[in-house]
Amino acid sequence: MNRNDLIHILSTTDETELERIRESAEDTLLRHCGKKVYFRGLIEFSNICGNDCLYCGIRKSNRRIERYLLERERIVEAALWCGEQGYGSVVLQSGERRDAEYIDFVEKTVAAIKEKSRSAAMPEGLGITLSVGEQSEESYRRLFAAGAHRYLLRVETTNPELYRRLHPVGMDLPDRIAALDALRRAGFQVGTGVMIGLPGQTVEHLADDLLFFREMDIDMIGMGPYIIHHDTPMASWRDARERTPRERFDLGLRMIAAARLLLMDINIAAATALQAIDPEGREKALAWGANVIMPLVTPGEVRRDYQLYDGKPCLDESADQCRSCLAIRVAGAGREIGYNAWGDSKHATDKKSL
Ligand code: SAM
Repeated sequence: MNRNDLIHILSTTDETELERIRESAEDTLLRHCGKKVYFRGLIEFSNICGNDCLYCGIRKSNRRIERYLLERERIVEAALWCGEQGYGSVVLQSGERRDAEYIDFVEKTVAAIKEKSRSAAMPEGLGITLSVGEQSEESYRRLFAAGAHRYLLRVETTNPELYRRLHPVGMDLPDRIAALDALRRAGFQVGTGVMIGLPGQTVEHLADDLLFFREMDIDMIGMGPYIIHHDTPMASWRDARERTPRERFDLGLRMIAAARLLLMDINIAAATALQAIDPEGREKALAWGANVIMPLVTPGEVRRDYQLYDGKPCLDESADQCRSCLAIRVAGAGREIGYNAWGDSKHATDKKSL
């Protein structure tokens, strides 16, 4: 797979060929990772954010949402619920804060989940993935020592001009890349990803993003379509609508297939944003090479205040409803749920055993 192959996957209009690409991505997944789909219960525990990303609904300047930080007990309770369902892992996600008090809060929360989630089925406790943005290497080390072992930090785009356009002054692509390196040094399995269908983004940019994932030897990918949020500066950009939601969705599936064919044994999440565009978005992602799903377990009372984009799905469903709905979706895609397992990527576990 070279850059031209990737560009071709992202741009061919031949339906027969597209189906062939999908089939070989699915086949690559089944050969390298097996049939299992791993669940990570997603707990969006705070929307307080010091960043002002121009695309994001919880950006600092959006005054139309109520800011929250869930109490530690609520977060632990949601995580333990995941353990009881056999999910095996949780993702703790929030806006970005770098103050000492916050890092301390996250560290203690991770430690509490670890301690309380040990059971006969999961003697090592729940697997914990963090997604709390750019932090210092020292903070990453503390969070790792507390018991989190995977970290998701999207690079958003690896094109320097596009990155600059999407972010306020002071947020720089080299810092984001340095943070990914720091995560690795701190011991984490590292996940990253991009938004797909951004204004001004070309298939060449996306092919370069995929090659970046390979160069960084990343262990997992979470990427999905860019979706407009009406209360953001980007919503009024003339080129924000240059692709229709359906075009961004289709490009999202092609990106999953291309990533699977290029990187083979990594974990790839079926992003929730896909389902914001297509009700069957996540099943389709499974058929195009994804093997991880993040059911929403954020407590109902704050879900509405964590809307990164318009049309977030599952707003009115309980965690229980999300669970049964996803179980049906996974079975419908001809796959199995990997219960009571962390479901680390084969790429990460193979590296560790070297
Ligand atoms: N603060 C952490 C960070 O930046 O990594 C985690 C939370 S952040 C809101 C999670 C991800 O949401 C971002 O990496 C971004 O890719 C995605 N996101 C934000 N706004 C979006 C939008 N309008 N459409 C699609 N994805 C979006």
